[in-house]
Amino acid sequence: VSRFEGIAMAPPDPILGVSEAFRADTDAKKLNLGVGAYRTEELQPYVLDVVKKAENLMLERGENKEYLSIEGLAAFNKVTAELLFGADNPVIKQQRVATVQGLSGTGSLRLAAALIERYFPGAQVLISSPTWGNHKNIFNDARVPWSEYRYYDPKTVGLDFEGMISDIKAAPEGSFILLHGCAHNPTGIDPTPEQWEKIADVIQEKNHIPFFDVAYQGFASGSLDADASSVRLFAARGMELLIAQSYSKNLGLYAERIGAINVVCSSADAAARVKSQLKRIARPMYSNPPVHGARIVANVVGDPALFNEWKEEMEMMAGRIKNVRQKLFDSLSARDKSGKDWSFILKQIGMFSFTGLNKTQSDNMTNKWHVYMTKDGRISLAGLSLAKCEYLADAIIDSFH
Ligand code: PMP
Repeated sequence: VSRFEGIAMAPPDPILGVSEAFRADTDAKKLNLGVGAYRTEELQPYVLDVVKKAENLMLERGENKEYLSIEGLAAFNKVTAELLFGADNPVIKQQRVATVQGLSGTGSLRLAAALIERYFPGAQVLISSPTWGNHKNIFNDARVPWSEYRYYDPKTVGLDFEGMISDIKAAPEGSFILLHGCAHNPTGIDPTPEQWEKIADVIQEKNHIPFFDVAYQGFASGSLDADASSVRLFAARGMELLIAQSYSKNLGLYAERIGAINVVCSSADAAARVKSQLKRIARPMYSNPPVHGARIVANVVGDPALFNEWKEEMEMMAGRIKNVRQKLFDSLSARDKSGKDWSFILKQIGMFSFTGLNKTQSDNMTNKWHVYMTKDGRISLAGLSLAKCEYLADAIIDSFH
C-alpha cells in the first residue's frame, strides 16, 4: 500500500484543464478559446519576429549560462521598470522602485504575496469580483487573507463603479487593493480615466496600498504607454504601490516565464530594503530566475530598431483581435433573431470577451459545439480566427436560447 494513499486526486485547473480536454477531443470543428494565448488567423501559435531576431543576436554573442543574481538580470530590471513608468518618471530618477525579476506574472504576484504575508500580518487583499482564477490560489497559498470588491454588473454588462468604490471604502484601512492595469481579465471592462482618478482618491483616503497586475501592457490598446496610464496616474500622486508585470502576452514569451515585481516606495532607502527582502523570499523558493527570457526583453527594449518593430507587431496582434471582435459582433447581430443587444462585445477590451454564458450554457458550447472555454463564460478572442466567427456565433446563440 502506498504511503501516498491519503492524497486525493486534485481537480483539473479551471483554465489550463480546458486545454487538456481540448487536446483529447478528436472533432475537426474543435476550437480552444480557454487559455489566453495569441494565435494567427490559421490558429497557429506565433513567435514574434523581434523575439527571433533577439535570439539570433544572443546566439551570435555566444552568451554563457552562468547563474543570474537573485534579483535577476540587471539590464532586464532596468528596462522593465522604464517600460512600465516611462524612463524619465521621477520614481525611477529618485530610485524609489524596488524591481526584482520574477517567474512571469504569476511568480511576481507570488513574491509580492509573500512580502505582504511577512510584513503586513493580517492585512487583506481586495480582489475584483470576478477576477483571473489564479489570483485566489496565489493568495491562498501565500496565506494572505482576501475578499472581493464588486466589479462586474451583469445587468449593464459593464462596470459596477458605485459598488467598487463603496467596497474599497468599506475595507479595513491599509488593505491592498488588487487592480488590473488594463484589459481586465475576465471581463474586458476597464475603468475610464476619470474613474481611475476616483479609485485613486478612495485608496488614498483609506490609506490602502494599490497592487497592480499588469499582464497585458500594449496588448489592450496596442500602445505600451496608453496601457500603463493607470499605473502612472497612481505613481504621479506620490503613492506607494506594487506592480506585477508579465511578458507572456505582449512579447509572446509564455513559456519563458519572464516578468517582474516592482514596489514603488516613498524613499530610495525604503526601496533598497524592500528589494533586499524580496531577494530573501526568492532565494529559498527558486534561488534565482531563468536568463533566456530576460535577455530577450532586454535586447528588444534596449535596441531602438527592435523596440519599434516590437510595437508594430503588438499593434498587429491587437489589431487582429479587434477585427475578430468586430466580426464576432457582426455575426451574432446578423444571425440572432431574438433582438438581444450584442454591443457589449465591442465595448470590451483586450484578449477576452466575457459572453455572459453561465456554466450550463458554457457546457453546451463544449459538449455540443466542441468550443472549449472557461466555465465563467469567458472566451479568448486571441484564439479565434475570422473564418470561425460565424460558427462560434451559431454556438453562442444556440447555447443562450
Ligand atoms: N494576471 C492576469 C490578469 C493574467 O491574465 C495572467 C495570464 N493569464 C497573468 C497574471 C499571469 O500570466 P503569466 O504567469 O504567464 O505571466
